[in-house]
Amino acid sequence: MLTDSHAHLDDARFAADREALIQRAWDSGVHRILTIGNGTGPDDMGCGIPFAEAYPWIFTTVGVHPHDASKVEDRHFEMMQGFAEHPKVLAIGEMGLDYHYDNSPRDAQQRVFARQLEVAAKVDLPVIVHTREADADTERILRAAGGVRGVLHCFTSSPELAKAALDLGFLISFSGIVTFPNARELAENATTVPADRLLVETDCPYLSPVPHRGKRNEPAFVLETARFLASARGIPLEELASQTSENFTRLFSPAETA
Ligand SMILES: [Zn+2]
Ligand SMILES: [Zn+2]
Repeated sequence: MLTDSHAHLDDARFAADREALIQRAWDSGVHRILTIGNGTGPDDMGCGIPFAEAYPWIFTTVGVHPHDASKVEDRHFEMMQGFAEHPKVLAIGEMGLDYHYDNSPRDAQQRVFARQLEVAAKVDLPVIVHTREADADTERILRAAGGVRGVLHCFTSSPELAKAALDLGFLISFSGIVTFPNARELAENATTVPADRLLVETDCPYLSPVPHRGKRNEPAFVLETARFLASARGIPLEELASQTSENFTRLFSPAETA
């Protein structure tokens, strides 16, 4: 069984064939999907719940993406806490810092990141962290939060940030980027993450792995990232698939609904 630990099933690019692509995921052996609750902005953080309620094997999260940090009001943190009681909401996020796009001012990104870490600690759920070109501040804010568990998703940062995250007990998740021929250093990095700390994801509809690169991504394609990582780590695909699925279970404690 494969687990896609990070997908955006609510994305408008899936509107025309969403049910078919969810079926394709299942048929490819992807028997668990975590669909991220960011939606089109803070008011839309419950966007993954309809999928989680419709499919026993799909789970979701609630959170505010760093791109949307400037749109946050206090009531959104209360909203988050309310949604966290839903049995299929497994995490808070994605949240974090994106200094590549800087769609929200950095001070707002940092404040909203720290506030969401507080919510996660309060409701006792793990976090999904997005970090881009913000290694030092990400590490500083995670260390200040203390005791929060979670995953650095779509990891593309330095080996130093990977090490810091591992020290903090975090898991590290790799997307299709790791399969890109110009990402050799990242692929090497991925071979050093301990087996019990590794996750795979699509982050679909973005970042299709080779050989689908450039096309719309979908959960079934997590197979290609898993295949690549298994080969890079010198283990069978089945072992990588079961290890990453076990890691997902350990971090998120998903309980399938009937
Ligand atoms: Zn992200
Ligand atoms: Zn994402």
